[in-house]
Amino acid sequence: MQEAETPAKSLPSSTLRFKDLVPVLYQEGRFQGDPVTLGVGGFGRVELMTTIKHGKYYAMKRVSKKQIVAKRQEEHMLFEKKILKAIQCDFIVRLYSTFKDTRYIYMVMDFCSGGEIWTKLKEVGRFDEPIAVFCTACVVEAYAYLHKKNIMYRDLKPENLMLDQRGYIKLVDFGFAKELMRGDKTYSFVGTPEYMAPEIIKNQGHDFAVDFWSLGILIFELLAGSPPFSSSEPQKIYAKILDGELKYPPYMNEAAKSIISKLCRPRPGQRLGNTKNGIKEVRHHRWFGNMNWHKLRLGQLEAPTVRLIRKGPCYINFDRFPVDHTKADEDFSGWDRDF
Ligand code: ATP
Ligand code: MG
Repeated sequence: MQEAETPAKSLPSSTLRFKDLVPVLYQEGRFQGDPVTLGVGGFGRVELMTTIKHGKYYAMKRVSKKQIVAKRQEEHMLFEKKILKAIQCDFIVRLYSTFKDTRYIYMVMDFCSGGEIWTKLKEVGRFDEPIAVFCTACVVEAYAYLHKKNIMYRDLKPENLMLDQRGYIKLVDFGFAKELMRGDKTYSFVGTPEYMAPEIIKNQGHDFAVDFWSLGILIFELLAGSPPFSSSEPQKIYAKILDGELKYPPYMNEAAKSIISKLCRPRPGQRLGNTKNGIKEVRHHRWFGNMNWHKLRLGQLEAPTVRLIRKGPCYINFDRFPVDHTKADEDFSGWDRDF
């Protein structure tokens, strides 16, 4: 086991060593005694770890190096680490350290103990206005931070929004994030079908505007419980997106419909957030009512999301996953030299 890099000086975690991390085990139920898995993604899994010394919790993402090569995700993975290491924003998950061995790369992050917004949304069906507004406002702050650094996020969806213990939202999963110079466009086909902007589907080249499109889709999904353009077949989703017709459920209010339709304008240049006044226009939209953005940034607002968070063992806000005993193949191709 080698330590990839010493963490940035400002991080108090510079002493975190791989061998100090121990898995947290399920204390009861069907998986009692097995390590706690917080989530399984496309390339690996995220496990709950702690240290014997201070007992702080960490979420550790473990990804098979061979699978990264097989799925040609080397660049994405290297960039995910590079970005997360450089980021210091309260609305984005913090990466403490990275490690690697012959089979895996590991990313040790803040543990967001409140669980996924996706899970909460499925539990309650749809969110009431104050919760949806609060979640969206957190995402707007994360976007403001990222876009200022010329980073597009490109993977907004409820599965990638985590709640911390206070009910504040943190963005996770930077596998699709990309740095882009202002005025440039990129042509990669990335994202989750339901959240993809029309210009990605049409391969016309895209930029920061895709993040505002997906913000509109997110607001819709938080308020309605499912996204506006959906189908079991991606091709049908794309057709609906290109068609562009938004059908709002009767209970959605005017302000909500207004912000969604302004964010989900087909022409990227006309989207709220992407016009000359930038993200300010999003913040000033009446759907946010009297949101105190300053207090939000300082973490001084009481989060309406706290009532979604359950109390109990530290993994109570997560689905449970069976242990995975399979070992990934070793990989010596060397793509992870800089990881
Ligand atoms: P994807 O298939 O979405 O690309 P991935 O392999 O990139 O998945 P992530 O999306 O980063 O992995 O994480 C997978 C899941 O693990 C998340 O949806 C979440 O449930 C959980 N998770 C990730 N990071 C954390 C964290 N810091 N704290 C708690 N849970 C987390
Ligand atoms: Mg994910």
